[in-house]
Amino acid sequence: MLKLYNTLARQKQDFKPLHDNTVGLYTCGPTVYNYAHIGNLRTYVFEDILVRVLKYNGYKVNHVINITDVGHLTDDADQGEDKMESGAKREGKTAHEIAEFYTNAFKEDMADLNILEPNTWCKATDHIQEQIDLVQNLTDKGYTYETSDGIYFDTTKLDDYGKLANLDKQDLKAGARVDIGEKKNPHDFALWKFSLDGRRQMEWPAPFGASQGQTRTGFPGWHIECSAMSMKYLGEQFDIHCGGIDHVQVHHTNEIAQTEAVTGKKPWVNFWLHGEFLVVDNGKMAKSENNFLTLKTLKTKNLDPLAYRYFLLQAHYRKQLAFSWEALESADAGLKNLKKHIKNIESNTQTDEHVEAEFLDAVNDDLNIPEALAVLWTALKNKSISLKTAIEFDKILGLNLHDIEKKEVDIPVEVQELLDKRTKAREEKDWVESDRLRDEIKKHGFGVEDMDEGQKVTK
Ligand code: AMP
Ligand code: ZN
Repeated sequence: MLKLYNTLARQKQDFKPLHDNTVGLYTCGPTVYNYAHIGNLRTYVFEDILVRVLKYNGYKVNHVINITDVGHLTDDADQGEDKMESGAKREGKTAHEIAEFYTNAFKEDMADLNILEPNTWCKATDHIQEQIDLVQNLTDKGYTYETSDGIYFDTTKLDDYGKLANLDKQDLKAGARVDIGEKKNPHDFALWKFSLDGRRQMEWPAPFGASQGQTRTGFPGWHIECSAMSMKYLGEQFDIHCGGIDHVQVHHTNEIAQTEAVTGKKPWVNFWLHGEFLVVDNGKMAKSENNFLTLKTLKTKNLDPLAYRYFLLQAHYRKQLAFSWEALESADAGLKNLKKHIKNIESNTQTDEHVEAEFLDAVNDDLNIPEALAVLWTALKNKSISLKTAIEFDKILGLNLHDIEKKEVDIPVEVQELLDKRTKAREEKDWVESDRLRDEIKKHGFGVEDMDEGQKVTK
């Protein structure tokens, strides 16, 4: 039986889908104003493991990921600049161009990390009407009020506001130490914001803040998009919703409030799963801290993105993980070693009857991948796992362990000549020439990786 740690229940619970064999899963996607950093990618790898474990257990998964391309403000709450607009200024492009560019970059990162594609991608800007309808519906039901800068949700109208994060009732009271501006209560949040300072690049007419029958331009708050799109694609109640741990307090808390207020159905989502942070020097990796690394940086240092995936799999998703180059390099060596062991499995090796059961127990115990990897390593060392089973396990691990079965690349003569010259340059420690030859080889459509045993060519 699959057990998952449910943030809402604060414990591990047996997982069962609401409807038959299909799991409705919504994972909060990227804000596409910059590259995803490798901390963000940790969250998407954890969610990918969840998808793979659900499938391994025989469930069909209906997975929806959103693209936040409007409304996420720089302070994560209701103030500051829209991240998309600031990205556009930074690069001298339009917000739409920025969104398209970084959405594609994100999809490339996903492919490099072997993260499975969702069934549905949905963009916030493609669902403005759904968001306006939701805000209107909440207004009709009496949950909102207007200030000079937007339409806000009144969190005191719900008895159980803050249940996900277990927010202290004391903190919810008005008049707390924080400056709440025109808001009635500290936790009230914007559903819709008016365009105030001249024209924004992204704005839409809506009936809010205007006189009867008129419209006024504005844009949706960040939380409302996830409620609108998840309900559109997964229905008013569904199985699992995920994100990084920082979403518990505000983003997911507010998604729950507005959705349950509008539908009256509780709980909106049965299981809430949150991944812990990747940290650097004890601080979180974040774009605002300027301490972030991208997958592209790792690739320019010749590190295999799957070595980063392997590095992540060595820690449980609910534990913080400290990034260091040494740890990443040792994961790179570890993955190569793992592939070597798998390559060396003899064809007559049978899988011991306990191995599969132990592996499944580990992954079903709240996605305990470090334990599952330990089962695999022990079995490899004891010669108690067949190649077929190892490749079956890779359906969850997603490390391309089957790659070793691929045949060698066919190398044309002119590329071979360049490779030979490069070997010589490297022997002479002429790194400039070696790099120049790598670029030359690349022009012919081939890549080179430097391994202990020499140059490895990829196409
Ligand atoms: P964003 O693109 O800022 O909306 O964030 C995308 C996802 O990355 C969210 O689920 C965040 O919770 C998550 N996230 C942000 N920083 C980190 C980090 N340092 N480690 C792991 N996940 C993170
Ligand atoms: Zn979300």
